[in-house]
Amino acid sequence: MIILPGRSSGLPTEQRTSTFTGTVWADPVLPTTDGVTINTVTFTPGARTYWHHHEKGQILHVLAGSGLICTEGKRPRTLRPGDVVWVPPLERHWHGAGPDSFMIHLAVSLGVTNWHDEVAESDYTATTDE
Ligand code: MN
Repeated sequence: MIILPGRSSGLPTEQRTSTFTGTVWADPVLPTTDGVTINTVTFTPGARTYWHHHEKGQILHVLAGSGLICTEGKRPRTLRPGDVVWVPPLERHWHGAGPDSFMIHLAVSLGVTNWHDEVAESDYTATTDE
């Protein structure tokens, strides 16, 4: 049997609070290395990030559940397992679970993440644009 390590050793799973709504856990895959941070992030139903942008962009890979992602000025889009999203540098957005499902994604964040304001309930529950 061979087990390939899938997360960083010695680093705890962290509950994210100040820049997230609802219950969110982040499990470190790679501590920040040369500006690249990789986490497996679990959002409970209704939980989501605050509005934010990434200095050099972000890649998301949805692993399980059903989620939402939204760019400012657009309607939310549905995320399903296997979906991959490229968020360009400095694009203001949020992402999280759907209202009735958890969502787990791998997040590869490039450069510094800049956090803004909380996502309003009316923005979160806006009709999705598939
Ligand atoms: Mn993001």
